[in-house]
Amino acid sequence: MRNRTMAWPEFAIGLSIVVLVFLAYIGINVWPIVIAAAAIGILAFAAQYRSKATSMTDGSGSARSKSRSAKVQSIGFNRIGGQDRAKHELIEALDFLVRPEAIKKFGIRPLKGILLTGPPGTGKTLMAKAAASYADAVFLGASGSEFVEMYVGVGAGRIRSLFKDARQLAVKEKKENAIIFIDEIDVIGGKREGGQQKEYDQTLNQLLTEMDGLYADETPRILIMAATNRKEMLDGALLRPGRFDRHIQVDLPDKKGRQHILELHTQNKPLADEVQLEKIAEETFGFSGAQLESVLNEGAIYAMREEKEQIEMRHLSLAIDKVMMGEKTDRETNQEERRRVALHELGHAIVAELVRPGSVSQVSLSPRGQALGYVRHQPQQEKYLYTLPFLEEQIMISLGGAVAEEMFYGHRSTGSQGDFDQALNIVETMVNAGLTSLGIVKMKHVSIEALSGEMNTIMEQLTTRTRQMLEQHRDTFQHSLEKLIQDEQLSGDDFRCLICESKQLPA
Ligand code: ATP
Repeated sequence: MRNRTMAWPEFAIGLSIVVLVFLAYIGINVWPIVIAAAAIGILAFAAQYRSKATSMTDGSGSARSKSRSAKVQSIGFNRIGGQDRAKHELIEALDFLVRPEAIKKFGIRPLKGILLTGPPGTGKTLMAKAAASYADAVFLGASGSEFVEMYVGVGAGRIRSLFKDARQLAVKEKKENAIIFIDEIDVIGGKREGGQQKEYDQTLNQLLTEMDGLYADETPRILIMAATNRKEMLDGALLRPGRFDRHIQVDLPDKKGRQHILELHTQNKPLADEVQLEKIAEETFGFSGAQLESVLNEGAIYAMREEKEQIEMRHLSLAIDKVMMGEKTDRETNQEERRRVALHELGHAIVAELVRPGSVSQVSLSPRGQALGYVRHQPQQEKYLYTLPFLEEQIMISLGGAVAEEMFYGHRSTGSQGDFDQALNIVETMVNAGLTSLGIVKMKHVSIEALSGEMNTIMEQLTTRTRQMLEQHRDTFQHSLEKLIQDEQLSGDDFRCLICESKQLPA
């Protein structure tokens, strides 16, 4: 039946074409009819599209709003690794939903919005879901990009429908609280500087209006949570007291946090006894929770591919490389290139071991992502402050590859581009922190000539120091080169043995 109805328009179009061809055949000018039909068709299509867009604004029938209100898996704070301070701050902020009587007694202004800020994959969405289950609230999640539409008013309509859905869902599930979570709030909440599109402004205005219309004594009580990686981009109106006035920083986890996250995500995985999560936590400095989850997942895939019963340390080590550097590529390098890459990587590794003994965790010649080889370093301890000597050493490690190529070939290659970028970024940090001979300066007041002059001087001085250091270890290069080319990979311990052996070689 349905098929027959759907076939009618096609049948009518077919018939019209036949009639037109017939009229043209008998000599009638059919162009006015064709043009009129095309115009009617375009108008009908536009009207239909417009009505679809508008129907989304009422919310009640939109597929989008239905998917948003789909039941989310309940997550407790105990499923979130690390982030102790952020969890604590969030739980405190949730008092507004959990202890409304006390809040009322003290005449405390109700909290309307909590903004979670921090790098991607650190668990902001998890936090919002955990907040909902802690406060026994219904949870509705949306992303800022869902509100972006070509048509003025559609985004604003979606905001309205989101709040309406939250209230309806809470009533349906007999809950007193609802939490609305908007991820990537910066998409709609960016600063309004006059140049913004009208549509964005309307969406943001609607969000502000809805927030202003929230009251502590209404049922259900609604709390808005939002997340962003770019807090500095947000419009002041969103951040003022009474709106998103509670800001919680969700940072990359420290070593203890990483270990906790690893423990949580290994609960459903068979691990070999030799696996030390503490060591993995040590080697994954700078990883987010999402990356740590990915390391365990990739490790499990490696173990499964090898038809092992359990995940071994080796699998996890490969998985760290994969998450850090990307998948192994099939780039075939010729023998000469391989030798150059090996010397380059040894240059990085030797400097690293000399300035920070015990810091190399792996030297590898397998091409991954954009790199033809790489050295994995093991941070010895978490650092939040960097001294001048530390930064200089870091630059020397970056320069080690290019210097090694110069020592053995007399010139550099394009393989050092990334290293130089890294080194120059560090020099920039040094300038910003007043650690250079430019003194304490504001970057915008430094002329390009002065800046590049200072950068050149620093890079040249450190290149000279790196060369002097590596020249004293030519033997180590020679002693390790063949082994690295042959095995493709040297563990940090193997590499340190090679350094010791080469020291004992006769001069
Ligand atoms: P984005 O800013 O990109 O939206 P996010 O900060 O919201 O990211 P989530 O979506 O909460 O990050 O986390 C993604 C996944 O990473 C989670 O599903 C979980 O598997 C893992 N994860 C991240 N942080 C943690 C954590 N602290 N504890 C446990 N798992 C975590």
